[in-house]
Amino acid sequence: MNTDQPWQARGNCRNVDPETMFPETGDLIGRTQAKATCRGCKVLVDCLEWALEANVEHGVWGGLDEDERRKLRRSRRRLSAVKTTEPAAAASGAGSSAA
Ligand code: SF4
Repeated sequence: MNTDQPWQARGNCRNVDPETMFPETGDLIGRTQAKATCRGCKVLVDCLEWALEANVEHGVWGGLDEDERRKLRRSRRRLSAVKTTEPAAAASGAGSSAA
């Protein structure tokens, strides 16, 4: 992998064949091996956040494969939407049982 990110030189994957981190779709053994490489990586959070922000579609980054990152992005968007709407709902008394 080469993203030219400063954290990358400290990643567990720096000494593995880059192909390891990009298993074919449906290659569950390959995905498991890639995720095992990430286990305990000192820069896992930096890596994952970079991959999420850069919208990287392929490979295992930060211990998550593309499907898992997609789900995480979706969850964060939903959470963000809830956070954004909560104060308005609270101000209007929506969801409150107190009369
Ligand atoms: S979290 Fe995984 S992909 Fe990211 S730098 Fe570490 S070993 Fe590499």
